[in-house]
Amino acid sequence: LASIDAHPAPSIVDVSGVKIGGGHLGMIAGPCSVEEPERMVRIAEKVAQSGANLFRGGAFKPRTSPYAFQGLGEEGLRILKDVGDKFGMPVVTEVTDPRLVELVAQYADMLQVGARNMQNFALLTEVGKSNRPVLLKRGMSATINDLLMCAEYILSQGNPNVVLCERGIKSFDPATRNLFDVAAVPQVRTLSHLPIIVDPSHATGRPELIPACAMAGIAAGADGVHIEVHDCPEVAKSDGPQALLPEQYDELAKQMKGLAELM
Ligand code: PEP
Ligand code: MN
Repeated sequence: LASIDAHPAPSIVDVSGVKIGGGHLGMIAGPCSVEEPERMVRIAEKVAQSGANLFRGGAFKPRTSPYAFQGLGEEGLRILKDVGDKFGMPVVTEVTDPRLVELVAQYADMLQVGARNMQNFALLTEVGKSNRPVLLKRGMSATINDLLMCAEYILSQGNPNVVLCERGIKSFDPATRNLFDVAAVPQVRTLSHLPIIVDPSHATGRPELIPACAMAGIAAGADGVHIEVHDCPEVAKSDGPQALLPEQYDELAKQMKGLAELM
C-alpha cells in the first residue's frame, strides 16, 4: 500500500484542513514538550505569525532516562489543543503507547509515532485503526525499507493518512546528535507516494545547523519541515539545546517559503 506501484500519484495528507504533500508544505513548529499555557501561547503566536501551519508539543515524552521529565500527560494535550485552536493551527503530538491512542486522538489533529517507537507494531496497529493522520518518524537505526514497512502496518489497518519523517540516524560521529540523511527524501520518493518531511532539529541537535539542513531538505523535495522552537531554551523541559528562538524560526521560515515556491 505504501509502494509507488500501488499508487503512482503523490498522496496529499489533510490534517484538519492543512495539506501536506503534492506541493503543499507542512510547516510544523513548537516546543519539544508541552509546557505551561502562557509559554505555549507565546510560542504559538510567534510561529503562527512566521507561517507555521501546524503546532507541535509532546505531552507524553519518550525519554532516555525514566527520571527525566515525562510530559504533562492529558493536561498537556488539553493545553496544546486550546493553544492550537486559539491560533487556528491543527496540533501534532506524540503517542507512545497503544493504550493511549484513543485519548490522544481526542485532542490531537495528527498522531506522532516517534523514532523510538517506529517498530512498536502494537502502536502502529492501533494508530492504523484511528481516523487521525499519522506522522511516522524514522527510527534512529532503521533502514528506509524498515520505515516503509512500518507505514504499511498503519495503512493496512485502513488509515491512508501517513506522513513519513526523516529525523536523523545513528552514526559514529558525535559532532551532530544524529546523522541527517537528506538522501532519504528523494529515495523515498522513488519508492512511495507517501509525503515525507524532514526534522533538522532532532537530526542535528544543533541550532546553528538547522537552517542549512531545513533548506537542504526542501531542496531535496521534502513536503514539510518539523522544527522545535522555544522562547527560552535554557529553561525548556526537554531538547532546549536544539531549539530555535522564535526570531530565528521567523528568519528561516521566510527562506523556506521562498525556496518551496521555486520547487
Ligand atoms: C520529538 O519530536 O520531540 C521526538 C522525541 O522526536 P524523535 O522521536 O524523532 O526523537
Ligand atoms: Mn524533541
